[in-house]
Amino acid sequence: MARAWQAAARSNCIRRAVGAVLVRDGQIIAEGWNGVAGEYPDCRAAGCRRCIEGGATGSGYESCICIHAEQSAVAQAARNGIATEGSSLYVNLRPCLQCLTLCLAAGVNRVFFAGDSWEYPSEVERIYCVLCDRLDEFARVDNSVAALED
Ligand SMILES: [Zn+2]
Ligand SMILES: [Zn+2]
Repeated sequence: MARAWQAAARSNCIRRAVGAVLVRDGQIIAEGWNGVAGEYPDCRAAGCRRCIEGGATGSGYESCICIHAEQSAVAQAARNGIATEGSSLYVNLRPCLQCLTLCLAAGVNRVFFAGDSWEYPSEVERIYCVLCDRLDEFARVDNSVAALED
């Protein structure tokens, strides 16, 4: 998890700095952080409407051009030809519904998160929990405690 916070420091999103680390067999296989690709100082300069105008956590992504840290980590693994099947994800924020779906599709088995607490409205939260149950583990962890275990 400490490594996820380090990855978050590379974010260029004005809204939030998120970092994600994929681990398999005790090895870091990919890292990602949120924000925009390219040589922009931040996502405002790149023209991200959602990040400029604000909005609730977990919503308004149709006008957001920032990639999420989890998506970025899975994409990095794909670019490098590294399998994500059976991996664990460490991320310094509770993942959004879309990232959870992506992680499940990528074969991630365990998700450990930290950071600010947030939840969806109850209707969506219920679906979120159904997805969480498909993981072997989905847990909030204190910083770096889980990193020692994996
Ligand atoms: Zn942004
Ligand atoms: Zn996400």
